[in-house]
Amino acid sequence: MGTKRAIAWMFLFVSLSHLTQENQDTEGNAAKRTLVQEEQHAREVHCSRERSRAAAKIIEEYLMPFVEREKYQISSTCRLRPDFDLFRDQEENKIHVDVNEWRCGYCKKIFQAEKFLDQHFDNRHYNLLNASDGKCLADLCGALHCDLWLDANLKFRKTKCNPAAAARNRHLCESLADSCFPVSRSPSANRLHELFLRQFCDAHTCSGGSKPFSRGGRKHTSVLYLAFSILTLMLLPIFYLIVYLQQRENRKGTQELKRISLLGRKAKPS
Ligand SMILES: [Zn+2]
Repeated sequence: MGTKRAIAWMFLFVSLSHLTQENQDTEGNAAKRTLVQEEQHAREVHCSRERSRAAAKIIEEYLMPFVEREKYQISSTCRLRPDFDLFRDQEENKIHVDVNEWRCGYCKKIFQAEKFLDQHFDNRHYNLLNASDGKCLADLCGALHCDLWLDANLKFRKTKCNPAAAARNRHLCESLADSCFPVSRSPSANRLHELFLRQFCDAHTCSGGSKPFSRGGRKHTSVLYLAFSILTLMLLPIFYLIVYLQQRENRKGTQELKRISLLGRKAKPS
């Protein structure tokens, strides 16, 4: 009886200590989780994925066509280069399968919207980001008019112009032009320097007048245009066929009328 009770007590003690240990473990995990979340938060504050994406798209759309035309090699220290984009590798591993289907290129998981895939990257593949080397394309957003670009993609919102901010952005913009397209390097660098100022820097003023992206962007052959062209090409023969048949009917009709009138004339005695 005594040993049984002792065993029961021991069992109770062991299970209790196990429970508290488990409790500590979950506490430990929770602490770890909040640490990870804090780290994540710090990273998000440090570099915005959305704004980096906007900056990358602006560079691709409004700068690269001109750089390609000049066959210009951007120097490795220029912050406009794609490898200064912290999220570049992740963005390249986004597979847009269908309207509501986004696939993660690393683990092949499928999501209904791009924002869920973004969250997945933040949660599951954040170790792939090398946030320590200070590369962040979003830092150039002031110079590149990301806000305008993001607004145009959502809804155009007019904000009050802040002269100090405009001056700061202009300074950043001009320093980018100087470092990426040093005037003394070559005639094409000189031309691109000029273009960069007109395309991005001139609009950093509160007096108005010049608009950003004034030199235009990449020419797109839109899918809609292509579909319309194909449809027109397909419908054209059908249209001509209808016209041809109509005319044939008309000709038959007039011949018939002629015959009737001829018969009528013959029947009447002159
Ligand atoms: Zn994944």
